[in-house]
Amino acid sequence: MLNLKDKDVIVLGLGKSGIASCNLLTRLGAHITAFDEKKKEELKDVIKKLPKDVVVQYGNVLSLPPSDLIVVSPGIPSDISYIKKAKDVNIPIIGEIELGFQMLSHQPIIAITGTNGKTTTTTLIGKLLEDAKLNPIVCGNIEIPFTSCNISKENIVVLEVSSFQLETIIEFKPNISVFLNFAPDHLDRYLNIEDYMKAKARIFENQTKDDIMVINADDPVVLNLSRRSRAKPYLFSTRQTLQEGLFIRNNWIVARFSGREEKIFPLSDIKLIGIHNIENILASILVAIILRIETSSIMDTIRNFKGLPHRIQEVGNISGVRFINDSKATNIASVIAALSSFERKVILLAGGRDKGEDYTRLIPYLKERVKKLILFGESADLIGSMVREAVEIYKVESLKDAVDLSYALAEFDDCILLSPACSSFDQFSSYKERGEAFTKNVLALKERLVENGRGIFTKKC
Ligand code: ADP
Repeated sequence: MLNLKDKDVIVLGLGKSGIASCNLLTRLGAHITAFDEKKKEELKDVIKKLPKDVVVQYGNVLSLPPSDLIVVSPGIPSDISYIKKAKDVNIPIIGEIELGFQMLSHQPIIAITGTNGKTTTTTLIGKLLEDAKLNPIVCGNIEIPFTSCNISKENIVVLEVSSFQLETIIEFKPNISVFLNFAPDHLDRYLNIEDYMKAKARIFENQTKDDIMVINADDPVVLNLSRRSRAKPYLFSTRQTLQEGLFIRNNWIVARFSGREEKIFPLSDIKLIGIHNIENILASILVAIILRIETSSIMDTIRNFKGLPHRIQEVGNISGVRFINDSKATNIASVIAALSSFERKVILLAGGRDKGEDYTRLIPYLKERVKKLILFGESADLIGSMVREAVEIYKVESLKDAVDLSYALAEFDDCILLSPACSSFDQFSSYKERGEAFTKNVLALKERLVENGRGIFTKKC
């Protein structure tokens, strides 16, 4: 465990994890200077959550004062000049995940990563453990910072970890790592896809042969990265029958270990839609099997799991036209997952802040699964220019205009899907705010149509 009594520690970034780090470090007796690029005025509410002794510096950071340790937030790339300078003079630089890890006294950790599905899977693993009375603490990239949790001897930590968080680990080592999938993302942060892949693969870095990794056997990148790990692999697949692992056969989930097979339950018991969610469920069940949770308990938990808001969530129905909120789809792989989840062609609403992805990858899916594409926000022109030949395209300024236009274009039984393929930061503070705005606009449209005495029955059956 780190001894930080009377040490000078710098905390870079005052988001949720930065605040949690300041609080923990204060309890450990460190002297803290925190930096944030925002202005004092913008940080008013943040300051209230910090211990009084923390010295806060606002605005551009040009150089850092001498210190014994730097704790850097996941939003700050670790290759910027003042961090490089600190590295040159051998100041240890860690992230909040490493700090949290150093504070544990041998509690088991299940860490979940992947390009998509982390929060869904982390939540589900948490529920499986909760229902089996295994005292999980669910935290990490899932809103509740690791270091803000009061973790006792009896707890199992269920930790969502992003690539940004994995960049700054040193000794962090999960007992069970879960690697769901890998696809291009965050190319506005990483120089290239290899750098993103390297960051993700660090989940295995400190695992030993006594640890376990849960691996998606259908993802060639994940499979390949896992071959370099020392941990014991447990595989799951939705596409192949495995010699050893968890897979689907004749619409049943089947477990086969040491030559013994068990039919767990039929896919018809699952409430979530989409093959991607079956993958998340298989990964979660595999963790439950490893922890020897009884099949009956697993079945009850999965049957009751309805998924999370902003991920392919139905938020309204106007005259037989369904509105689906998938605001959390901020990369192309997640949009493809959403489009593959519907049997009929949808009207797709996409756009926002570009993250450097190649939108031409969407073309085959647009051709096959989208009847009209409505683009909004900063990246509308860019996406439009890249997928022009695939589908009928409309461009609008705002999400509200996109909702109104989509309904005007829709016919009875159509599905209108917000699955933006971009981050929300051009017009919103988060994917949540964007999803909530979508829902509000749908409800407002419905009210307007009712008030005007039309619309509710105007879509032809
Ligand atoms: P993350 O925490 O990795 O961002 P979420 O569970 O919040 O993952 O889901 C983010 C987006 O990705 C949503 O649009 C969701 O529908 C989609 N998604 C969830 N699981 C998967 C998966 N296994 N593969 C592809 N897309 C997925």
